[in-house]
Amino acid sequence: MSGPAAAPGPIPNDFWLGTSGDDLTPRAPLKGDINVDVAILGGGFSGLWTAYHLLKRDPSLEIAIVERSICGYGASGRNGGWCSPRFPVDPGALIRR
Ligand SMILES: Cc1cc2nc3c(=O)[nH]c(=O)nc-3n(C[C@H](O)[C@H](O)[C@H](O)COP(=O)(O)OP(=O)(O)OC[C@H]3O[C@@H](n4cnc5c(N)ncnc54)[C@H](O)[C@@H]3O)c2cc1C
Repeated sequence: MSGPAAAPGPIPNDFWLGTSGDDLTPRAPLKGDINVDVAILGGGFSGLWTAYHLLKRDPSLEIAIVERSICGYGASGRNGGWCSPRFPVDPGALIRR
């Protein structure tokens, strides 16, 4: 059996990541087991906002975000940047789906 797949590397020409000012080098992996109050897998919007709001409610929480590549590697780091409260389909199409 082979081991886990290697973490995918960042996309160098991605607009958001490429203009972030970060060198996009993945942080060092965990050296072993750790104990935290909340462990979050994935440093995208879902994981980062979850950590943000949990800490806002209870700053004493110890939270670890474990990301296999770099934060923002997934859709969060390369989306269109649109911010709208509306679904991109009309209500009738949404109900049918
Ligand atoms: C091309 C495109 C355009 C878009 N445009 C818009 C837009 O304009 N406006 C908008 O609001 N939304 C847009 N979206 C949708 C939006 O980007 C996503 O809904 C959102 O980023 C999802 O965030 P997420 O944190 O759930 O997932 P992701 O951002 O995908 O984050 C998941 C993270 O988990 C990591 N991960 C995966 N597996 C593991 C593992 N086993 N262990 C540890 N880490 C792991 C990944 O590396 C990744 O960083 C777009 C999406 C795409 C693809």
